[in-house]
Amino acid sequence: MARVHNWQLGREMEYPYQAAYPERQFAFVFNINRCIACQSCTMACKSTWTFNKGQEHMWWANVETKPYGGYPHWWDVHTLELLERANPGKQVWSGATSDDKRAPYGQFQGQTIFEAVNTLPEPASSRVLGYLPSDQEWNSPNIYEDNPVGKKGVPGEFDKTGVSLPTHDTWFFYLARICNHCSYPACLAACPRGAIYKRPEDGIVLINQEQCRGYRKCVEACPYKKSMYRGNTRTSEKCIGCYPRVEGKDPESGGEPLETRCMAACIGQIRMQGLVKMNRDGTWAEDRRHPLYYLVHVAKVALPLYPQFGTEPNGYYIPPRWVPRPYLRQMFGPGVDDAIERYTHPDRELLAVLQLFRRTNRIIFRYEIKEGPKAYETTINGKPFTVYNDTVIAYGKRGQELFRTQVEEPVHVRPPQHQNSI
Ligand code: SF4
Ligand code: SF4
Repeated sequence: MARVHNWQLGREMEYPYQAAYPERQFAFVFNINRCIACQSCTMACKSTWTFNKGQEHMWWANVETKPYGGYPHWWDVHTLELLERANPGKQVWSGATSDDKRAPYGQFQGQTIFEAVNTLPEPASSRVLGYLPSDQEWNSPNIYEDNPVGKKGVPGEFDKTGVSLPTHDTWFFYLARICNHCSYPACLAACPRGAIYKRPEDGIVLINQEQCRGYRKCVEACPYKKSMYRGNTRTSEKCIGCYPRVEGKDPESGGEPLETRCMAACIGQIRMQGLVKMNRDGTWAEDRRHPLYYLVHVAKVALPLYPQFGTEPNGYYIPPRWVPRPYLRQMFGPGVDDAIERYTHPDRELLAVLQLFRRTNRIIFRYEIKEGPKAYETTINGKPFTVYNDTVIAYGKRGQELFRTQVEEPVHVRPPQHQNSI
């Protein structure tokens, strides 16, 4: 095993291969507060990549209702249980959140899926701690849709009085998921054929279909269960990050990098995808006006999904404000409280950057803000809050302007003769 630095864990960890990082890394931020589970993303992916025979059960992009839903069912609970069994009571974080880019969430003291596999009493048949979901667990991608959690221990008993933030007694939320194109992919680590590779130009993780023999070690190892087996070809397949679009080969793109199909289709405007610059030590290079760098490393409102698994996923989430914090801390790590506080009381820059979501299908490489006049003042949870009508401008790969938009949405008043027509 090699030693690599995992900045999300704030420490070195074991990984079967030496570290190698792309120049730029495919990454994305999903704002859970805005997802309405319309499944447009799910269907955009399905109709593009997995509509063929043998792919019926494959949903490379899916949206599940947490906490009861999951595709495959209980994927996260199973892996959390495996880790807890291997290292009982010690899967904990220490230290405080900080500005240190090599340890922004403190330090994870527990074991990752690459480490825990070596502490099992019986010799493991894989390089990674994992499990193979049953056929039954794969067969209901949207099970428990909209099922909330009510009063603890009382089935069907929901809060009837209405509640206010910070958390709700009756709650659920939608978790949209794709492959995280991890910096330390578990799928790649586990493949005995060396069929899985990470592209040096954009960090997208792919399975070479010629090399794959369908051993399903990647399916077993991926803690997010985003590698899937196809029975009729006897190979595994996974999200390909819509790489022709990212490369600018889609006819619609005019040669410019385009976001993936699931991002482009998002009705709730929750998704933004980008290509972030990497340092040679695997941390994100300082890129102050890159929207993803800003959201993850400056505003720190977007957090990795289950960082404790150890794969350094490149999917980041703005956590849902109304959900009990212990649940969110388990899912997104120790940065949850600060992230929700900042998102609830956004400063001027954050409010402007949040306007960048889904105004274009082109990948944004830089933004700029032009200050505008004060729009109004109010209070949020007793704290003063001022909104300025700033303009935010997005730039593409070549530095060209992609669009500009404002914090305040323009109001269009219909003329009286067209009030009830479109
Ligand atoms: S999410 Fe799973 S399939 Fe995707 S790169 Fe990470 S380990 Fe591999
Ligand atoms: S398209 Fe957007 S809003 Fe609709 S389910 Fe997907 S992530 Fe959520």
